Amino acid sequence: MDDISRLIRENVKTLIPYSCARDEFKGKDGIFLDANENPYGDLNRYPDPYQRELKTAISKIKGIPEENIFLGNGSDEIIDLCFRIFCNPGTDKALTFTPTYGMYEVAAAINDAELIKIPLSDDFQVEYKSVLQELKDPALKLIFICSPNNPTGNSMIGFEIESIISGFEGIVVIDEAYIDFSEQRSFKTMINRYNNLIVMQTFSKAMGLAAARVGMAFMDPSIVLYFNKMKPPYNISTLNQEAALKSLKHIDLLKNNINRIIKERERLAKALEKMSIIEKVFPSDSNFLLVKTRDADKIYSELIDNKIIVRNRNKMVPGCIRITVGTEKENNKLLTALQRIKL
Ligand code: PMP
Repeated sequence: MDDISRLIRENVKTLIPYSCARDEFKGKDGIFLDANENPYGDLNRYPDPYQRELKTAISKIKGIPEENIFLGNGSDEIIDLCFRIFCNPGTDKALTFTPTYGMYEVAAAINDAELIKIPLSDDFQVEYKSVLQELKDPALKLIFICSPNNPTGNSMIGFEIESIISGFEGIVVIDEAYIDFSEQRSFKTMINRYNNLIVMQTFSKAMGLAAARVGMAFMDPSIVLYFNKMKPPYNISTLNQEAALKSLKHIDLLKNNINRIIKERERLAKALEKMSIIEKVFPSDSNFLLVKTRDADKIYSELIDNKIIVRNRNKMVPGCIRITVGTEKENNKLLTALQRIKL
């Protein structure tokens, strides 16, 4: 796209961002009398607003230059920022493929943007032809594609996604929260080819750091600029930046845990498929299984009685519950509880 800045809301383009003390002086040594901090204590200093050390570590592992990386307080903050940067409240629209992650709809509503919901195909795939008409709408600014998708668990076919990116004059956000559990290639390297592409990943799933709230987004530096302008100055705490950095130093351990989860996913799927109360276990590229049951509401509440909490997705995908893959012991308890349910 020639001029990506025409997609930016006018007030965002002209916004003069808050300039924090740490923007002006970047060194670590010195006597800091600039930010009205308390000179005593361990957590008395404001964090690095641009998380430089963490971005350097992420850049090495992901193979993405630092200037292409934006970090948010979880991917959820990045989703919200997308609306605030690209969608004029009350007039602009976003689009997603349903069933999918619920935050796109919540963020759209918060930002007063209409969300167009296009159903996925019968096998839960994104289809370029299903959005041909919508792509022409000048009010459509953002498209969210979740791959692997929550709650269906499958990855989307790459060329369908690429046709959407290349055929659309707005921003396409690919949410790859579950990519590390998948065999599919990430779209992250495509940000060089398409400046209207944003690829999101997170520390919350495969990296095991949901408590730390660190989301990543990879995109053209010309858009990173606006994310930096719009974010709260210190959007990721020092504690959380350090937790993320520490996790990246133990990448072998993380990979080991990912493999354990994938093995358990396959074992759990096989055991569930044999149960008479279950009609279908959908193939999964993530750390959860979408399971079609004979009575989702009943199974959900009986599991709750056993203090086992799954997600009832009956309203989104009729008859379905979504089960996150736990430890071997947790999964065995789930299987025993399910075996006892009589419908
Ligand atoms: N994207 C998807 C598809 C998710 O399922 C979730 C959380 N369940 C998120 C994003 C949010 O991730 P984060 O914890 O980084 O905000």
